[in-house]
Amino acid sequence: MTNPLLADWTTPFALPPFADVTDDDFAPAFEAAMDRARANIAKIAENPEPPTFASTIEALEQADAALNRVLGVFFNIAGADSTPKREELQRDFSPKLAAYGSEITNNKPLFERVETLWNARDTLDLTPEQQRVLMLTRRGFIRSGADLEGYAADRLTEVKNRLAVLSTQFTQNLLADERSWYMELTEYELEGLPDFLIAAARAAGAEKGLQAPVITTSRSLIVPFLQFSPRRDLRERAYQAWTARGAGGGPTDNRPIAAEVLALREERAFLLGYDSFADYKLETEMAKTPKAVRDLLMQVWEPALAAAEADSTRLSAMMHGDGVNGELEPWDWRYYSEKRRKEEHDLDEAELKPYLQLDRMIDAAFAVASRLFNLDFKALDATLYHPDARAWEVTRDGAHLAVFIGDYFARGSKRSGAWCSAMRSQQKLAGDIRPIVVNVCNFAKPEAGKPALLSYDDARTLFHEFGHALHQMLSDVTYESISGTSVARDFVELPSQLYEHWLEVPEVLAEFATHAETGKPMPKALLDRLLAAQTYDSGFDTVEFLASALVDLAFHEEEAPADPMRKQAEVLEGLGMPHAIGMRHATPHFAHVFAGDGYSSGYYSYMWSEVMDADAFEAFKEAGSAFDADTATKLERFILSAGGSEEAEDLYTAFRGKMPGPEALLKGRGLSQG
Ligand SMILES: [Zn+2]
Repeated sequence: MTNPLLADWTTPFALPPFADVTDDDFAPAFEAAMDRARANIAKIAENPEPPTFASTIEALEQADAALNRVLGVFFNIAGADSTPKREELQRDFSPKLAAYGSEITNNKPLFERVETLWNARDTLDLTPEQQRVLMLTRRGFIRSGADLEGYAADRLTEVKNRLAVLSTQFTQNLLADERSWYMELTEYELEGLPDFLIAAARAAGAEKGLQAPVITTSRSLIVPFLQFSPRRDLRERAYQAWTARGAGGGPTDNRPIAAEVLALREERAFLLGYDSFADYKLETEMAKTPKAVRDLLMQVWEPALAAAEADSTRLSAMMHGDGVNGELEPWDWRYYSEKRRKEEHDLDEAELKPYLQLDRMIDAAFAVASRLFNLDFKALDATLYHPDARAWEVTRDGAHLAVFIGDYFARGSKRSGAWCSAMRSQQKLAGDIRPIVVNVCNFAKPEAGKPALLSYDDARTLFHEFGHALHQMLSDVTYESISGTSVARDFVELPSQLYEHWLEVPEVLAEFATHAETGKPMPKALLDRLLAAQTYDSGFDTVEFLASALVDLAFHEEEAPADPMRKQAEVLEGLGMPHAIGMRHATPHFAHVFAGDGYSSGYYSYMWSEVMDADAFEAFKEAGSAFDADTATKLERFILSAGGSEEAEDLYTAFRGKMPGPEALLKGRGLSQG
C-alpha cells in the first residue's frame, strides 16, 4: 500500500488525508521525502549547464516540496496533539533535518551557482520579487556558513546539529512538566471561585480521569485561579509550580540546556564573524542592532516601571487591609488587582465571561475580516487530526482562497501558548497553491453540552492568531520562501497585534458579545466599562513582558552566561524589577527563546511590532472608521498580501507614508507622560 503522506491528496482542497494517516506512516514518508529532496539538490548542483534563475533558485524553491508537505502535517500534529510516539519521531527527525540543512549549506558547487547568479544579477532581467528571492537565498547561504572552510565549517555543522537536538529536548521537557503537575481541589477549596472557573477545573479533572476538579499550568486555568482564589496558600502553591516549569531538577530540567544553547549560539556567531549572537540575529531584522532594541525597550520600561510601582503600593495596602501582613508577593498581585478592578471599574471578569462565547468570538473575527477584506467563511465537514479541531473554507467573491483550521481547546497533548502555522503555504510557482492555515489555542474546554466561554484576554488571543492567519491566507506572491508570514521577526506580529484592535471596536462586541444563557447582548454599561478598563494594570503587563525581553537580549548580546539563572537574576536586579511581578516567561520555560531559534534575541519583536500596530490602527481612526475601505485595501496590498517581497520598512512606509515613533504605543498602553 502506498504511504498516504506521499500519495496525491485527493481530499477536498487537497487537505492532508488525516483519516488515513497513522503514526507509522511518518518515518517512512519522512525518509522518502528526504531522499527525494537530496536527489533534487544534487541535480541542481551537478547541472552541467550554466546556472539560470529557473534552474537554480526556482529549482531550490521546489526541491523539498515533498518534505515540506510531510513536515507541515507532522509538526502541526506534534505541537497540537503529541503522543510518546510522535515525541520519539520528533527527536529522530530534528537532527536529521539539521544535517540536511548543513549538507545544502556545505554544498560548494551549489553555493557557487548561487554566487554566479548573484554577481550577474543586474544582467538577468529579474522581476523585483525574483531579485529579492535571489538576495535572500544567497544571504541565507552565507549566514548558514556557506563560505566557511575547514574546521570552521565542520564545527558550525556540529554546533547546529547539537542545537537542533537541544531545542527538541527543551520543548519535550516543558511539555512533560506541564503534563505532570496539577492541583486537585476539594469542594471547600472551590469557595470564592467563579462558576466558569469551577466548570473549567472540573473539565480539566475529567480529562485526567479524576473525580476532583483540578488546576493545571494551562494559562486559561491558572491565571483565573490566581485572580480569584482567596486561599493565599493555594495561590502560592499554584504560582510556584507554574513558574517552576522546566526547573524542577531531575531529567526534565531545562536549566543546563539553556546554558548549553547560549554557549553554542555564541560560538555560532563567532564562527560567522559576528561580535555576538544578537548582532548576528538582528542583522536581518528591522531593528538591525541590539542597541536599537534596547533603546526602544528602555523608553517603555521607565514609564511602565513607574506605573507598576504605584500599583504595587495600592495593592499592598489592600492586602494589609485584609489583615495579611508582609510583602505583596507574585501570587498576590492578580488577586488584589482583580479586586481593585472590580472596585475602580466595576468590572468583574466573572460577570463578563458569559458574554464571551468562543463560537461568537470566532464569528466576530470572521465578520471583521468580511467587512475589511470581503472574505466569506463556510464550515467544512472534514476529518482532521483531532475531534476538537474545526475547518472552514475561506472564499472571496466565490473564489477559493484558503482552508482555515481552528483548534481552540487546551489538552494534555498540546504544548502551551497559542500559535498560527501553515500546513501549506501560498505560492504560484508550482501552480496556484492556496494555503491551509491553522490557529492553535489553549482555551479551557467546557463540560459536555455547555458553551465554551473565554476571558477577554482569550478573545484577544483569538483575534491575534487570526491576524497571523490572514497574513497567510491573503498572501499573494510567487515564491513560497517569501510567502505569508515569512517576513522579519519584528514585523511578523504587526498583522496579528493590529487585528486585536478590532475587538475594541464597540460595534463588534455590541453585536457578538451575547450572553450564553439569555442570548442578550452585553449591556451598554458593561461594554463601556470594559472598554474604559482597557489599559488597566498595563504597568504589570508591560513590566512582565519587558523583563523577559531584556533578559533575552542580555543573554545573546553579552558573553554567554555559564549560569543563565544567575544572569537572569542580575538583569532583573539591575532593572529594579518589582518584587511582586515575575517575568512573563522565565528562562527554564522560555519556549520562545529556547524551543528553537525563532524568537531568540527576538522576544522584543512583539513590542517593535506594537509600535507599528498602534500607529497602523491610527490610520483607520484618521480615516474616520475602523472599517474604512481604502485603508483596508492599502493594508492588504502593502502588508497582508505582500509577504516578504520587500523590506519590512518599505512595506510599512508604503502603507502609512512614514515610520512611526513609540508615541502611539505608549498612548495605547496608557503610559504616556503628561
Ligand atoms: Zn503572534
